This record gives sequence, C-alpha cells and structure tokens, in this order.
Amino acid sequence: MIVGERKSLSEIKDMVRPYGKVLVAGCDTCTAECMAGGRKQVAELAAALDMSFRLEGKEMEVQETSVDRQCIHEFLLDVIEQAENCGDCILGATAGLCPVTRCAKSLLNGPCGGSQNGLCEVSVVLKCDVPCVWAMIYERLQQMGELDRLTDYCPPKDWRPGGAMGPRQMVREH
Ligand code: SF4
Repeated sequence: MIVGERKSLSEIKDMVRPYGKVLVAGCDTCTAECMAGGRKQVAELAAALDMSFRLEGKEMEVQETSVDRQCIHEFLLDVIEQAENCGDCILGATAGLCPVTRCAKSLLNGPCGGSQNGLCEVSVVLKCDVPCVWAMIYERLQQMGELDRLTDYCPPKDWRPGGAMGPRQMVREH
C-alpha cells in the first residue's frame, strides 16, 4: 500500500525558492487516489505556488504536468526532461535523486564507506555495476554549484507518513 500526503506549502516553497522555474509533476494513480498528487492537486499546488511567489514579488515560472504512472519509465518519457518525483521526500536536498529508493542502505547522509569509483558496494555481490546514488548526488550538486547542501545534516526520517507501523490507516478530515 502506498500512502501519499502533500508537504506543506511553506516547505515546498523553501525547497524550490533557489530556482526560477519549477515543474509540479503529478501521478494520476496512487497519489491521485490519496488526493495528494493527482492532476487536480497538481493544479491546486501550482496555482498556490504561483500566487504565493507573486505576492512575495519573486519571479518564479511554475509549470504543471501529470502522468498516468510515474513508477513506470515509459509513462515518463514525455516529461522525462521536465522533472523527477517522491513521497515524504528529501529530493529538494539531494538534487532530485532519491537515496531512499536508490541507495542499497537507504542512507539519508551518504555516501557510506562502500562507495568506490562511483559504484555501490553491492556491485561486487551482484557482479554488475550498480551506481552509488550518493556519488551521483555529489556530481549533480557539483554541476549545480550547490555542493554546500551536502554539509546539511539530514535528521532521521519520519517514516510515519508511509504508515509503516502496524496496520496502515489514514483518515482524511474532509
Ligand atoms: S555505496 Fe552508495 S548506494 Fe551503496 S550503500 Fe553506500 S551510499 Fe548507498
């Protein structure tokens, strides 16, 4: 079961504030069912961001899109050059690359000592080259001129929004 819940507008604004252009990309399957990130919620969030930044006097181009399933690569081909995605995510601090799903240890403050020449230590066991996502994060942040983001400690993740504590239950007040 996948649970989707939108971050607060202020948190999202803080993540995208350094940029002048942002794409709000929704998924019309799981997150749409959760009323958190489907086409309708994308339109609402894009409008809220646009209006909020306008009121601040900050120039921000807000684009929006939505695909049938973000978890299937083929569905992303039309928007692959526009963005990447996730849940209670830290993508704003990791250059859009997800260490929770792409790091073998789901490390939030990587890389670990097993990262060698851009490859994850599991490459040895799997007998194939598996990129270390933290090496990728480093390279992308370097390209963006934002390596200082790596000095920010990422505190232990709050896994509760994912509902991983016994039977999952989410009650929406509305
Ligand atoms: S080598 Fe990189 S991807 Fe592999 S477990 Fe360590 S930090 Fe994660």
